[in-house]
Amino acid sequence: MKLGIVGLPNVGKSTLFNSLTKAGAESANYPFCTIDPNVGVVAVPDNRLKLLGDLYHSKKVTPAVIEFVDIAGLVKGASKGEGLGNQFLANIREVDAIVHVVRCFEDPNVIHVEGSVDPIRDIETINLELIFSDIEILERRIAKTSKSAFNDKSLAKEVEILKELKAILEDGKLASTYENDDEDVMAFVNSLNLLTCKPVIFAANVGEEDLADDGASNPHVAAVRKYAAENNCEVFVICAQIEQEIAELDDDEKQEYLDALGLSESGLDKLIAASYRLLGLISYLTSGEDETRAWTIKVGTKAPQAAGKIHSDFERGFIRAEVVNYQDLLDCGTYAKAKEKGLVGLEGKDYVVKDGDVILFRFNV
Ligand code: GDP
Repeated sequence: MKLGIVGLPNVGKSTLFNSLTKAGAESANYPFCTIDPNVGVVAVPDNRLKLLGDLYHSKKVTPAVIEFVDIAGLVKGASKGEGLGNQFLANIREVDAIVHVVRCFEDPNVIHVEGSVDPIRDIETINLELIFSDIEILERRIAKTSKSAFNDKSLAKEVEILKELKAILEDGKLASTYENDDEDVMAFVNSLNLLTCKPVIFAANVGEEDLADDGASNPHVAAVRKYAAENNCEVFVICAQIEQEIAELDDDEKQEYLDALGLSESGLDKLIAASYRLLGLISYLTSGEDETRAWTIKVGTKAPQAAGKIHSDFERGFIRAEVVNYQDLLDCGTYAKAKEKGLVGLEGKDYVVKDGDVILFRFNV
């Protein structure tokens, strides 16, 4: 899973990204992750892992991870830019969701590119670039599909949908506001990979003084919350500067610092939790002497596809899954005890994996 961090210059993107990478996981353990200075690999906090690892005396414990991509340089006019501007937009096209950082802090020492703090104007500036880019994609697609539709009448419906989407964008709205009850139509819309269809989390970057009440007394945050509610997006309040400081502390110091600020968890942990929710992700767990590990899947994933996250052979040769709920296993104290109590299920290929399932896959090689 990859999230792209976007926002106007000077809103705190790099500060946030740096704190993410400092707190980051060792990417060597995650061969699927991109090695790139603009990509940070971040562990998904999961208290269950340590306890499960202790139960199995696992040699190592490996959390699930999310990748964050720093997409700096998205500025007004990016969609018209030939080279770089387009490159940034291409980077956004590759991510699963967008973290849109908006400046809600006042600080005369930090210049705002537009001269004043106004998060809604900033959001709309960025959105407009995304909209322009999507319109361009749609226009090309409409031209191509219309041509093919001469010979293949079944494509007429696609042309119609493409035109509807374009009209929405030309109206200044995001493609994510497009609605249709027909699943096939929605699948087609999703296949277009439009930038303005991607899920968005707003990171309202506030000053330290706004942290204790979660930005409740900051009118800029209120404006972002209202905008997000109207557009089906999540918001979370962060102080990028403080996050950067927290990222440099070790775990004990970190908790002390959070307590002193009156916070229960760091902004980064909130961001990761919000990303998981937004993307409809859950974790299942595997455990043994070598390793206890969390694996990320989408809600609704069936056992063979979940197994495929570990290795494609597991999916291809899937026979069955032995599944026990994490809490049941911990309460029983051993796997054998859980089995004895009938808490270990033997599940087939239609089993929908749940968050916190501890799974042992049986497969043919
Ligand atoms: P980017 O251009 O969006 O990547 O912005 P940066 O992360 O480089 O931040 C721009 C400036 O704003 C830097 O001088 C940061 O120290 C400052 N900054 C970032 N976050 C905060 C914040 O939460 N409060 C204050 N006062 N300054 C911040």
